[in-house]
Amino acid sequence: MISPSVAIDYLLDPIGKREIHDESVELAVDALRKQIPQKPVQSKEPRFGMGYEYHDWVCPTCGKYLAPEFANRSNIHHCKCGQAIDWSKND
Ligand SMILES: [Zn+2]
Repeated sequence: MISPSVAIDYLLDPIGKREIHDESVELAVDALRKQIPQKPVQSKEPRFGMGYEYHDWVCPTCGKYLAPEFANRSNIHHCKCGQAIDWSKND
């Protein structure tokens, strides 16, 4: 996989660099998709503590921990992977 900086160079000046087109577009699309806020999901693997089983809120893209199960919201509006997080309630 090419680096983000190589992809940026391609996107700004694509002439004569056909061989890195697909990877450059893929990197750009992945980065843009992460800007669309996604709702957090509950972890599939439980965490155990104080005699209870918890399914914490995790990033829908990378699975990283965002907040404990009992929290319905968090100040974390972006995961470390870059994914924007939407904590608004489902209506
Ligand atoms: Zn993430």
